[in-house]
Formats: sequence, structure tokens, C-alpha cells
Amino acid sequence: MTIRRPLIAGNWKMNGRLADTAWVERFQDALVASEVDILVCPPATLLHAFGELLASRAIALGAQDCSPEPDGAYTGDISAGMLKDIGCSYVIVGHSERRSGHGESDALIRSKAEAALREGLTPIICIGENLDEREVGRAIETVLAQLAGSLPEASAEKIVIAYEPVWAIGTGRSAGPDEAQEMHAAIRAAWPGADAQALRILYGGSVKPDNAGELLACPDVDGALVGGASLDPRVFARLVNLS
Ligand code: PGA
Repeated sequence: MTIRRPLIAGNWKMNGRLADTAWVERFQDALVASEVDILVCPPATLLHAFGELLASRAIALGAQDCSPEPDGAYTGDISAGMLKDIGCSYVIVGHSERRSGHGESDALIRSKAEAALREGLTPIICIGENLDEREVGRAIETVLAQLAGSLPEASAEKIVIAYEPVWAIGTGRSAGPDEAQEMHAAIRAAWPGADAQALRILYGGSVKPDNAGELLACPDVDGALVGGASLDPRVFARLVNLS
């Protein structure tokens, strides 16, 4: 029996304007009562507006990144405390677009996750190999090294891991269920504590309604981190309804 409640999270990336807050109502209309946790991570500019709309609904609010620092002289950055203040309960850290586009190291991602935990936010720590690493047979080794370097000390229930193979993000080519299950099982087996069964491990990378069913059916896949398909409220609702 699993003790893990699935989580379906939408990562809007750098998309969305104020008018797109209409998404919330449309999503809710298409949602069938579900047994999963639902999370939306819009860009920082929309967090406040989304926070007000989500406050009365069973949909959590998350950010896409946070500073490792508390408040202070860090122009352009947003602290975990600020995210908490505005109604966030989750924050994504270490997305591959930040690892590669902003040169973020495992150590930085770990300190961001620690900052999130200090404020009572749940960090969603992203890890994943690129195509070269998979093709030369080093996918598991790469991902477990990222895990070891990015993981703060905390109990499993306070953290979410997202396995997102870089070659699957935004490409339309998701991992197959066997590839996903193999990696998720390896991540769970590498968890340093005795509470690995409580760790939620999401799959991310071209999740769509037509491939989500087989991915979510894998025993160690505890939900999904969804990019492109989360922007359309009806498509995202279909994904949640599948879970
Ligand atoms: P995608 O993005 O679903 O558009 O592939 C996933 C992610 O980057 O979180």
C-alpha cells in the first residue's frame, strides 16, 4: 500500500499575463473531484493574483525559483520568505532551464532548497540527464550525482523530487514508462533516510493526456511536473482527472 498522495504540478515557465488568471475558473470547471494534490506555478508576476484566486480552492500555489538568501541586497531576486508571504506553499528549484541557462550548480540548488525549507515551503528539486548522458549509459549515475549534490537534510515528506530528463522537456518526446520507472526506483533506492517510501517523485518532460496514464501507473511515479500542457486549463484538468 502506498502512503504517497500523487501531486500534479503545472509549471508555466515564462508564460502568462494578468488576463490569464481566467485559467483558474476554467480549470475548476473542467475538474472532476480528485484524490490528488494540485499545484500551479505561474511566473512571479502572477503569484499575487493567483494567490487570491486560489485561496478558497484546493489548488496550491508555487513559484518557479527562489533566492538562497533571506531578504537583503539582492537585486532582482525573490526570497523564500516573500513567496511564503504571498501564499506559496511550494517552490521549484534546480529546473534544467536554470541549471543550464543560469549556470546553477547542485550546491546552489541545495542552498535554495534549504532556504525554502526554512520558510516552511516544500521545495520541488529537479534533476535529470541530458541526451548524451543517456546515450552513453550514464543516465542513472548522472541523476544520482545531482540528487546527492542538491538534496538538503530533511525528512522525505518535506521534499518533492522531479525527475525531468532534459531531452524530454518541451520536445514532445517523453520518457517511456519503463525508463521512468527504472529512474524513479533508483532515486528512491538512493534516498538517504529510512523514510524513502514517503518521498514523492514526479516525472516531468512532455507529459500530455495521451501519455500520462501509463507514466502515472508506474509504482514509483507519484505525479507529474507539467510544462506546456499546463497552460491550457482543460488539458491540465484532463491530466489531473486521469490521476
Ligand atoms: P514540458 O516541460 O511539459 O513542456 O516538457 C516540463 C518542465 O520543464 O517542467
